[in-house]
Amino acid sequence: MTTPMQAAQAELEAAFPRERLVLDREKLEAYGRDESELGTFPPNVAVAVESAEEVRTIFAVASRHRVPVVPVAARSGKSGGVLALQGGIAISLERMNRVLEISPDDLIARVQPGVNTGLLQAEVEKHGLFYPPDPNSLELCSIGGNVAENAGGPRALKYGVTREYVLGLTAVLPTGEIVRLGKRSIKGVAGYDLTALLVGSEGTLGIVTEITLKLLPRPRHVATGLVVFPSVAAAARAVTKVLTAGILPRCLELLDDVALAAAARTSAYRFPADAGAALLVETDGNDADAVFGELVRLAEVVQSDAQGDVIVAQNEAQRRDIWETRRYLSVNLKTLHPLKLSEDVAVPRSRIPEMVERAKAVGARLGLAVATYGHAGDGNLHCNVLFDRAEERPKVDEAVAEILRAAVDLGGTITGEHGVGLAKRDFLAYEQGEAVVALERRLKAVFDPLGLLNPGKIFPPA
Ligand SMILES: Cc1cc2nc3c(=O)[nH]c(=O)nc-3n(C[C@H](O)[C@H](O)[C@H](O)COP(=O)(O)OP(=O)(O)OC[C@H]3O[C@@H](n4cnc5c(N)ncnc54)[C@H](O)[C@@H]3O)c2cc1C
Repeated sequence: MTTPMQAAQAELEAAFPRERLVLDREKLEAYGRDESELGTFPPNVAVAVESAEEVRTIFAVASRHRVPVVPVAARSGKSGGVLALQGGIAISLERMNRVLEISPDDLIARVQPGVNTGLLQAEVEKHGLFYPPDPNSLELCSIGGNVAENAGGPRALKYGVTREYVLGLTAVLPTGEIVRLGKRSIKGVAGYDLTALLVGSEGTLGIVTEITLKLLPRPRHVATGLVVFPSVAAAARAVTKVLTAGILPRCLELLDDVALAAAARTSAYRFPADAGAALLVETDGNDADAVFGELVRLAEVVQSDAQGDVIVAQNEAQRRDIWETRRYLSVNLKTLHPLKLSEDVAVPRSRIPEMVERAKAVGARLGLAVATYGHAGDGNLHCNVLFDRAEERPKVDEAVAEILRAAVDLGGTITGEHGVGLAKRDFLAYEQGEAVVALERRLKAVFDPLGLLNPGKIFPPA
């Protein structure tokens, strides 16, 4: 007897050229995992689409046979968004990777979702323009994945996250409707803001096939510095002092003592042995003297809380050295312990020291090291639970659960940028309450009445 999946596959084989289908089991495994450490859930078939109409064709097949559909981009996600929990059809956006238009006059770019984020930034910079959202994965991830996760990054403090830059998009809904949402103008308040709803919907409401992005003129100068502190509390105090002094840096990145110990393995800088934390700071603008002057002023404001002098990069090479201290953290942490689970909670800025302390206390109680670093300027902290053996995983999961609940208890959120996906679906109601989750489920049913699009993500099974 033919199963629904076999019937769907036969229709896809008839509708698409052979080279755009992946049927080989080994290759399919790669489509069924991401950077979440949640395992591999391969789809039964992957289809590399080239247009919105092709996505519609796949939804028609999936609806006829009631098989699930999962959008898959660059698979750098950290919440398990691409995992095909129930198998089905993966729609790969990898071939839809063209920059369709860059308009300096309108300050916009129109792109397909599979465009690499780093390449997009480089492309717009050739026109003197700037696309600010800068996930640390920008060399790996795609703009479609960023839109689906509402990605942030170090520059979010000054420039905001992906949602602030999505003016409009084209999406294919599971019902087969192709909708053009939003606008090309900077302003526009007509109707419900469905563009904003789709951004951050983690591939559960529709598949995005084109995006119109707002751009800014590129700031011509950037200045970067590094400050060491005796404790996280001193660093957090310094963050508040900077912002209340009327200085808005573009980045204020925090590293706690464990993160600093890991960073020291490759950093060009020597930190004091008893250093408790560090801040990576960056200012930008169009006037070189003003940008440098702003960083010097920032240094004066934080000096009384700091341990030693503020390091200010004098040239591009020193800027790179400072950033590499932060960028290689994820890799360097694995030199302390080979395994880690990374959370991305966010708390109100004033609660940062408490959040770091609570994460450390959870680790101490369970015999696990916890390293915290992240975007201190906006309270988004990556708490990394480090461990040595896979058998320790239940203990690590317990630590993660406590860290997520602590973030909510401190007035924050379980995820500042990585999304809920599979990783945090069991904690959504703890943050939002059952009534809000029920409303979200009803909304999902409007877009996806058969429940075929990325099932099992964001919400736990009913
Ligand atoms: C080293 C490292 C550093 C990172 N740093 C950051 C950071 O600083 N900030 C940050 O926000 N994230 C960060 N991330 C997480 C990750 O890179 C982001 O979540 C990114 O946005 C995922 O993009 P992707 O193209 O890899 O998407 P994928 O992982 O392939 O997919 C992510 C989700 O989007 C859905 N999706 C993909 N394309 C579409 C589409 N066209 N339409 C609808 N749904 C779609 C998928 O179904 C899935 O649910 C980091 C990851 C790594 C590994």
